[in-house]
Amino acid sequence: MAEERRDQRDQRGARDARDAREGVQEVGEPWGRRVRPEEADAWESLVATARRTVSEGLVVGTSGNVSVRVGDTVLVTPSGVPYDRLTPQDVTGVDLDGRQVLGALVPTSELPMHLAVYRATDAGAVVHTHAVHATAVSTLVPELPLIHYMAGALGGPVRVAPYATYGTRELAENMLQALTDRTACLLQNHGTITYGTTLDQAYDRTAQLEWMSRLWLTATSVPGLSPTLLSEGQVAEAGERLRGYGQRG
Ligand SMILES: [Zn+2]
Repeated sequence: MAEERRDQRDQRGARDARDAREGVQEVGEPWGRRVRPEEADAWESLVATARRTVSEGLVVGTSGNVSVRVGDTVLVTPSGVPYDRLTPQDVTGVDLDGRQVLGALVPTSELPMHLAVYRATDAGAVVHTHAVHATAVSTLVPELPLIHYMAGALGGPVRVAPYATYGTRELAENMLQALTDRTACLLQNHGTITYGTTLDQAYDRTAQLEWMSRLWLTATSVPGLSPTLLSEGQVAEAGERLRGYGQRG
């Protein structure tokens, strides 16, 4: 923690120096620009979603992270701060290149994955967890078998991105590959990542993925029996219906 605080001071110092050079620093706002009202609202929703990942068992401690896009700014959970301690003053935001524009806390170390999703898709929010059943599945198969038609709500069979060290570009690249035509993927020996138009949608997709992973593990744990699986065609058909259902909903 002491290490992190020193880093934050260094970052602040570097930013102050840069801003002073460029003459863009506003009086009384050495930590970045002012938080806009829509960003304050989005931050409140982000913190609520992050707390939900903990209360519903998808995340232990601070092992996951959540982000939401507001225009060209990405608000993201800071590194190492328990979600129940986050306040409205802790708004942490970066631009799409990862430069910090809001707040003084260090953004999550998984920032490269979040930014890669925003650059490559029309995502409005991203949720990353180490949910236990989904992570277990990521160590067993290259793709979550089609145990349930709800895979259609995630775009089809959920792939597992090959392992790479957390926080690296390599992991972000592996993830993007696995996310092709999907809104969710597993990260081998690591966890889950999903995105959606809203925080609620990204969260729900994570919950569905964890539930489906648990379902498959449960069905495959019966000695002497193996579960029936659906075809890609069956799942695609369900996906079509689910999209229609969502619009009527
Ligand atoms: Zn992680």
